[in-house]
Amino acid sequence: MKVVGRFAPTPSGRMHLGNVFAALLAWLSVRSRDGEMVLRMEDLDTQRTSADFAQVLREDLLWLGLSYDRETPPQSQRTESYDEAFRILEERGLIYPCYCTRSQLHSVNAPHLSDGTYVYPGTCRHLTAQQRSAFDRKPAWRVTVPEKVWSFKDRVQGDYSLDLSTECGDMVVRRADGVYVYQLAVTVDDGAAGVTEVTRGMDLLSSAPRQMYLQELLGLPHPEYAHVPMLLAPDGRRLSKRDRDLDLGELRKRVTPEQLVGTLAYAAGIIERLEPVSAAELAKEFTWEKVKGDSLCLDPSIFE
Ligand SMILES: [Zn+2]
Repeated sequence: MKVVGRFAPTPSGRMHLGNVFAALLAWLSVRSRDGEMVLRMEDLDTQRTSADFAQVLREDLLWLGLSYDRETPPQSQRTESYDEAFRILEERGLIYPCYCTRSQLHSVNAPHLSDGTYVYPGTCRHLTAQQRSAFDRKPAWRVTVPEKVWSFKDRVQGDYSLDLSTECGDMVVRRADGVYVYQLAVTVDDGAAGVTEVTRGMDLLSSAPRQMYLQELLGLPHPEYAHVPMLLAPDGRRLSKRDRDLDLGELRKRVTPEQLVGTLAYAAGIIERLEPVSAAELAKEFTWEKVKGDSLCLDPSIFE
């Protein structure tokens, strides 16, 4: 089977070091097996994203040596496909309107997880038609989740499980303002592009079971997942978008693509010596077994 991977950046700013790392591994995984790379702009949030940023992202990827074979339509132009998926879920009787307000959802009574996110307790699942008609606001739409622990094996993180009912709850698929949510859009888009593997940051690990569940409901195949470690500063702090000097706009003034790629590859355990190297060179000998699963420490001063 042909390997198909994807870059799925949000065009709301420059790529950050962490984005570059995930993109590099996504590319190496695909190119090391002669696969195809697809680019997709995730611009559901049209307030924060722009065509200018999308163009800069394309240039940044090419500067890094991370080529792609085709670009699929951006999410802002995919509403009809999301409508279609919504209809499938609706016909299967799996979605219902939720009229809860923000404050209800985040109230102290709502069950919360350790990371601060809430689990929707199913408040609106069994409202009668009469109760629904009593609300004078537009609802969000949720898909019901079963009482099921979803497990899968991640290429980097190993075995991972999520209890759909107690750690996730019925998921919003379309917001009250009509905008589809990330989980649904990604599932539909990956399916449409024939994506066979998804490589992205660790912060999205718990999204994988959610997306796999939606794939199952929509009759889409499950891709392989690889959630790559987050990059940490030597003091243990997560390097983030706030470290402005580590976005590509700044980094490109100070380092070559080979220096940047070599530094990341060394931190990840892909190469044994810290030296400049091109992505194309790395692809020749890349295997996932070499990639460390723990958080990676990177001293940003290396780029000064
Ligand atoms: Zn509700």
